Amino acid sequence: MPAKVVYLSLGSNLGDREKFLNDALELLAQHQIQVIARSSVYETEPQDVANQPWFLNMVVACETRYFPLQLLTVLQRIERDLGRVRGGSAVRRGPRSIDLDILLFGNAILEMAQLTIPHPRMLERRFVLEPLLEIAPDLKFPLTNKPLRNYLAAASGQKLHKRSS
Ligand code: ADP
Ligand code: MG
Repeated sequence: MPAKVVYLSLGSNLGDREKFLNDALELLAQHQIQVIARSSVYETEPQDVANQPWFLNMVVACETRYFPLQLLTVLQRIERDLGRVRGGSAVRRGPRSIDLDILLFGNAILEMAQLTIPHPRMLERRFVLEPLLEIAPDLKFPLTNKPLRNYLAAASGQKLHKRSS
């Protein structure tokens, strides 16, 4: 498949959060997912589950030849290799060493049991929109064809600050 530009969200709120982000970036490259742009790192308030540590979040643009489900499998492999625990005692949307989500996959619109693209909650998440707009200010949302920046105001309740570039 020809190379596509995809946008990924990276998040960590356990242990050495900065290192988990950096290790994830390195593993992306090792799996033929080329990072072509990266946002600043943002320190963000937990949104879905309260009483957990703040997150470090960032968004990257990548080039990949994987199909969407292959990409998801590779991302889950990287999460596992970085020590993320799923299922069992792990709280859904609770603390995690690393979370890798597919935000956009070119202009694809997909709805499968394991994978929805665009990411179903991306418009509500300031910790996604803010870094995404930093690296792609004119990007449009494939479902509406409207500029993503139009959605920022509605998502701006979450506390967040830029940490580094
Ligand atoms: P969350 O990211 O919502 O906090 P998880 O990382 O535990 O929660 O993901 C739960 C499931 O979401 C994954 O097993 C995956 O199959 C599914 N999923 C659906 N769409 C996406 C997407 N766009 N990116 C990543 N995972 C997705
Ligand atoms: Mg996830």
